[in-house]
Amino acid sequence: MSISQNLSQIQQRIQQIAHQCQRSDIRLLAVSKTKPVQAIEEAIQAGQKAFGENYVQEGVEKIHYFKENKEVEWHFIGPLQSNKTRLVAEHFDWIQTVDRLKIAERLNEQRPVGKAPLNVLIQINISDESSKSGIAPEEMLELAQQIASLPNLRLRGLMAIPKPESDPEQQKVALRKMEQLFHRLQQTFSGIDTLSMGMSDDMQSAIECGSTMVRIGTAIFGARVYGKVA
Ligand SMILES: *Cc1c(COP(=O)(O)O)cnc(C)c1O
Repeated sequence: MSISQNLSQIQQRIQQIAHQCQRSDIRLLAVSKTKPVQAIEEAIQAGQKAFGENYVQEGVEKIHYFKENKEVEWHFIGPLQSNKTRLVAEHFDWIQTVDRLKIAERLNEQRPVGKAPLNVLIQINISDESSKSGIAPEEMLELAQQIASLPNLRLRGLMAIPKPESDPEQQKVALRKMEQLFHRLQQTFSGIDTLSMGMSDDMQSAIECGSTMVRIGTAIFGARVYGKVA
């Protein structure tokens, strides 16, 4: 199947699930890490607008390649070291993985004058895995408060990568926790509209639990080959 066929199948599936739970506002983030610009071009031709990249340098090269296209939106979704914040601040439209004040402050300082504020999601380590980035749920409001005071950042919501569970009901425990945190954030701050959770395997459960953005890579672009950057 081609990339455009994959995309339309996933979009249909999202619409179906959204319809079942009476939702209408779910966005698809096409995760294009390791994939060549030709694959992204094909997705753009098929109407896809938002792309997610995990590696700073690779992402910046792609953003540069597509810089004439103002409709395309670039999300940084990988872990970010503080010495790489400048490139993200200068080039991306969104960052979904903020989990420290220091990173937020650097991004705020380094966002170029004249560019729209950088859209920010706070990453929550919802399954409490020591290997994962993200803050603990109890730390959310304090970090949100700090981010909300930085003029060149725009806090939009939350992101999580819940630990995969084979039982959908078990999977929903973490997803429901995220839904509650998201509601709390919405009650406390204005302009909170994005809950980024759900990948290929937990897309349905994630949407049922209030996700507004699902992140899909392999099902659109095919399997990734590491070590051989395409
Ligand atoms: C790679 C990645 C995805 C997409 O994963 P697939 O299994 O290819 O669909 C989604 N979210 C994040 C944060 C990722 O790093």
